[in-house]
Amino acid sequence: MLEPKVILKSSLEGREISAIDAIILMQKYHSFAQEIHETANLINKRIHRDVVSFTHSKHISYTNICRYSCRYCSFFRKRNETGSFVLTIDDVLKKIAEIPSINEICIYGAVNTALPFSYYTEMLSQIQKKFPSISIKAFSPLEIFFIAKKSRQSLTEALKKLKECGLTSLFGADADILNDKLRKKICPDKMKTAEWIDIIKTVHNLGIKTSATMLYGHLENEIHIAEHLEILRDIQKKTHGFTEFTPMPFGEHEQRLNILEQLLKRGRREDYFGGEGQIVKISSISRIFFGDIIKNIQANWFRVGLDNAVKSLHSGANDLGETHFDKTAVKNLKPRKEINVTPATLKRVIVKIGKTPRQRKHMGV
Ligand code: SF4
Repeated sequence: MLEPKVILKSSLEGREISAIDAIILMQKYHSFAQEIHETANLINKRIHRDVVSFTHSKHISYTNICRYSCRYCSFFRKRNETGSFVLTIDDVLKKIAEIPSINEICIYGAVNTALPFSYYTEMLSQIQKKFPSISIKAFSPLEIFFIAKKSRQSLTEALKKLKECGLTSLFGADADILNDKLRKKICPDKMKTAEWIDIIKTVHNLGIKTSATMLYGHLENEIHIAEHLEILRDIQKKTHGFTEFTPMPFGEHEQRLNILEQLLKRGRREDYFGGEGQIVKISSISRIFFGDIIKNIQANWFRVGLDNAVKSLHSGANDLGETHFDKTAVKNLKPRKEINVTPATLKRVIVKIGKTPRQRKHMGV
């Protein structure tokens, strides 16, 4: 078995580390945390110097009615359940107009199969017409799969039409953790790993970029994480379609957390949970693993908290994520007194730690 120091030296010399190497770094993290952070920081500096980016974006969720019931999810509701909603296109436009200075809009929902294809095309067209300078990031692989299926089109046909209506990029959500045994436990009826990979590749092959995500800190262990990272890296080598990698710690989906408690007790070791140290650990090992293959490692200030995000910026991460979240979608999530920050606030935070802020137009640039 390789020593962590040998793995880190090799990655600093520009060699790609293997999934096994990533597992070793995660397992030996407690003894080598400082070296791992320093290595991730050096690799990050070579790619981004001291520039830290963010996007002035607003998240809008258009519906929470879902045919699925993922066991970690506090967002979904069943049709006619209290709190279920579908926004009209006018509602969506009004929400965008609330912050006219934004560069990007991020639209997502649950898998609401009652909505016709025209709802999506109309929504995108109207946004493009009324806000021509705003990029539109919308829909996850699972949403897009059902949007196509419900309208009896191939995925490619549906995506081409949505792109014509203004779709710029997609969320890389629904990846959760790309291991079918674990998926069976946390999101039993959701798409399998191979299906997620197929959809993402189809999207990328049409020239549409996506983010890449990972939900960690639930039932997974280091092997699952390394497996997940390797799947993303393999896709990226073929398609170059991922704009950023956003690791997301589990624990924010509080409302249904109790459903998972039993599984968690059985499934996790005490030293392995998505706590604060884990956030920096995952961002640093992700940077070492991806190098510049996935250039942007995001420490999303809202998802991990600003303090942890700043720590991650010294350990491999280079992006803070979006400025405005949707209070309807995140009301059960932590952290979380604030759901919005201004670009000026993020710039101040970045300058304070000696780095240079860069406001992106959207994640692809
Ligand atoms: S995670 Fe997505 S697919 Fe699963 S229940 Fe929640 S909204 Fe539905």
